[in-house]
Amino acid sequence: MKTIGLLGGMSWESTVLYYRLINEGVKAKLGGLHSAKIAMVSVNFHEIEQLQHQGNWDEAGNRLATAAQQIQAAGADFLLICTNTMHKVADQIQQTIDIPLLHLADATASRIVSRGISTVGLLGTRFTMEQDFYRGRLEQHGLTVVTPSPTQMDDVHRIIYDELCLGKVYELSRQKYLEVIDDMQAHGAEAVIEGCTEITLLVKQSHTSVPLFDTTAIHAEEAVALALKTSEV
Ligand code: GLU
Repeated sequence: MKTIGLLGGMSWESTVLYYRLINEGVKAKLGGLHSAKIAMVSVNFHEIEQLQHQGNWDEAGNRLATAAQQIQAAGADFLLICTNTMHKVADQIQQTIDIPLLHLADATASRIVSRGISTVGLLGTRFTMEQDFYRGRLEQHGLTVVTPSPTQMDDVHRIIYDELCLGKVYELSRQKYLEVIDDMQAHGAEAVIEGCTEITLLVKQSHTSVPLFDTTAIHAEEAVALALKTSEV
């Protein structure tokens, strides 16, 4: 089994999910007391969030690159950045380590394309919904990406930082997200990407008939598959 590297803490509310899902995935495949080999560094999200909103992505990238080097030194065979948003600095991180990165947007896009879906709605932070590092990456896989209106984006972004990253899950916010999902469907989305690793805390597949792609679950599943590929236990 390979050792999975996790760069977490952004926020820790979703890193908890990664840890659980990855261990459950290994247990489902190998049974008994088997659990995942994980090397994790969890950062202080307060610092990273401040840098994001100051637009100081270089410094945020430097801090995450340092964390990634620590994860590599701890024996990880490959790395997951446990947030969609911070894939904005994925290249900067990759340049400082030798182990490969399991890119969240690529893993998600492959899943969607293999289901025969070509137009997809995207929910996430404003950075993820608007910027090329994520949206453009999905488009490179041949997907057409639908995003919420500017006002809806404000709500989606605010709910992530002011509520979900703090572990607050409110019915009113769920209703808001479900409205946005319905609107994106009306604009052609055949499915919706939960492109922020905390959204799965708020909206589950049981809440809507629109197919959802939960990036936290997809990333965790792909990590388990890669860790167990061609390997002895
Ligand atoms: N976890 C979130 C994401 O997947 C947002 C937190 C962050 O800004 O990293 O984008």
